Amino acid sequence: MASQLIREWTGIQQFPAATQTKLLELLGKLKQENVSTLTILVMGKGGIGKSSTVNSIIGERAVAVSAFQSEIPRPVMVSRSTAGFTLNVIDTPGLIEGGYVNDQTLENIKRFLVNKTIDILLYVDRLDTYRVDNLDKQVVKAVTESFGKEIWKRALVVLTHAQLLPPDGLEYDVFFTGRSEALLKVVRSGAKIKKQDTWGDAIPVALVENSGRCNKNENIEKVLPCGTAWIPNLVKTITEVALNGSKPILVNKKLIEGPNPDRRWKEFIPLVFAFQYFFIIKPLQRAIKNDMARETRPAWELRDTGLSSRKF
Ligand code: GDP
Ligand code: MG
Repeated sequence: MASQLIREWTGIQQFPAATQTKLLELLGKLKQENVSTLTILVMGKGGIGKSSTVNSIIGERAVAVSAFQSEIPRPVMVSRSTAGFTLNVIDTPGLIEGGYVNDQTLENIKRFLVNKTIDILLYVDRLDTYRVDNLDKQVVKAVTESFGKEIWKRALVVLTHAQLLPPDGLEYDVFFTGRSEALLKVVRSGAKIKKQDTWGDAIPVALVENSGRCNKNENIEKVLPCGTAWIPNLVKTITEVALNGSKPILVNKKLIEGPNPDRRWKEFIPLVFAFQYFFIIKPLQRAIKNDMARETRPAWELRDTGLSSRKF
């Protein structure tokens, strides 16, 4: 497949020199830790900036971006290689359609990922959204049911549209904290991450501004309102997650087709019947038989069958 060809990562040379230096430093750090390939899975709802973020990371227009609808009905993997390091970024279609998680889209993503290893999950949403709702939880649940709870140990929450003026005169930092806390809460509950799973409190949040109108610093790097150059910052956070000691997620057939809560119980149905037969029905039959054998027959019955010597 053309999209799976590993090409030279020329896009990296399009970044400002300061960004290039930081990126090469981070890739060097990964290689030092024997990580020479990183596969990043990008997921989330539609129209929130997943594809734009993929292009921003790669530094070229590798996948289609659309203002109105998701352009790709299927996942696309973009692979780029530089200085002995390979970066695979998997862009996926939005999971929500008509107010529900689209099962077919999810199935396509799962099938695409079989035999691949996910090193990083970028769970993308917008910063400039003020509420979280049940749909967010459904998306988190779908991701968790597909790849297991452990995938959140390899996850970053990525918030796009980060160059904004918060509503109601809120400070940027206060708004950012409020929005990320609300989303992380949904992630923790949707993924059933328990209070004692302290790693659930450490899921990092990174900000992204894909717009060409993003402010720049003196080194012409795109910066967030707080002044941070966001591309190196995003890659730095990715590097930290990649090296946090948790295991990458190998997507195999077992994981994809593994026990789903529905199927798991269906397998027990014959066992339940067998149990009922041997431990409930059989003993009951035996008890009834014994009872009948022991029963003293009433006098009238003996009279009618002529067994009684009594005269009536
Ligand atoms: P996807 O459906 O999640 O892949 O979203 P796209 O990347 O196709 O983006 C949807 C629309 O949002 C496009 O018009 C993008 O130009 C725009 N967009 C994406 N990210 C940003 C961002 O960070 N800031 C702004 N201002 N627009 C963005
Ligand atoms: Mg897209």
